[in-house]
Amino acid sequence: MEEKDFKELLKEKASNINVFLKDEEIDKLYKYKNLVLEWNEKINLTAITEDKDFIVKHFVDSLTINRYIENDKTIIDIGTGAGFPGIPIKIINPENKIVLFDSLNKRIKVLEDIINKLQLKNVQLIHGRAEEVFKNKEYREKYDIATSRAVASLNVLVELMLPAVKVGGKCICMKGNNVEGEINNAKIAIDVLGGRIDKINKVILPEFNLERNIIVIKKVKPTPKKFPRKPGTPQKSPIQ
Ligand code: SAM
Repeated sequence: MEEKDFKELLKEKASNINVFLKDEEIDKLYKYKNLVLEWNEKINLTAITEDKDFIVKHFVDSLTINRYIENDKTIIDIGTGAGFPGIPIKIINPENKIVLFDSLNKRIKVLEDIINKLQLKNVQLIHGRAEEVFKNKEYREKYDIATSRAVASLNVLVELMLPAVKVGGKCICMKGNNVEGEINNAKIAIDVLGGRIDKINKVILPEFNLERNIIVIKKVKPTPKKFPRKPGTPQKSPIQ
């Protein structure tokens, strides 16, 4: 797809979900797409490489959570991979501080290059596993908003996310369709870890009619000290 067509389609598809992109944001997103695809030749970042898919399944999907992002909040994107949803959210909220967090150092190195080339300010990169890093006082209960897409099932995910968030903050969990069972299985874990489900919002991605669910979990009390448990345990024995 020509650059001009890519940019027009991106603008149109984002407007379908009520995100009205400015030209400079579109330029940055376009540049970001090219960087991801360039790096993708060397290290595995994404299976989504066609332009139309990239626009909808990476960019528009990431931007569906924008309505939950307030100004002046610190955000941590847990299991960010190639930067989704964190980088698109940062591009359209340049004033917010954001941490891009992942357990694969190779991906963090790629993100370093991408952040530099996009000249994004106030972005911190952290390499580590959520189970270890959020035990550490420096990172525990420090963020207003934690985001996450495609990292784990909800009962596991909340153990990786809620310890990072301040009381009064929230987790924004991006999920596919048919989430009812996943939510039911996670209710006890959410409560034990100090969370409360605030909203479950269904979104339909334009063009492909794909259903997505955004689960917003408020942090209402501190997470007990014993969580998160050691690496691998949340996945092996989810809280129930
Ligand atoms: N969020 C991105 C997206 O939607 O395109 C990447 C999704 S990818 C399927 C999952 C990512 O989560 C991987 O990059 C992986 O390294 C990271 N991850 C998985 N478990 C993690 C953990 N316990 N702590 C930190 N990162 C983790």
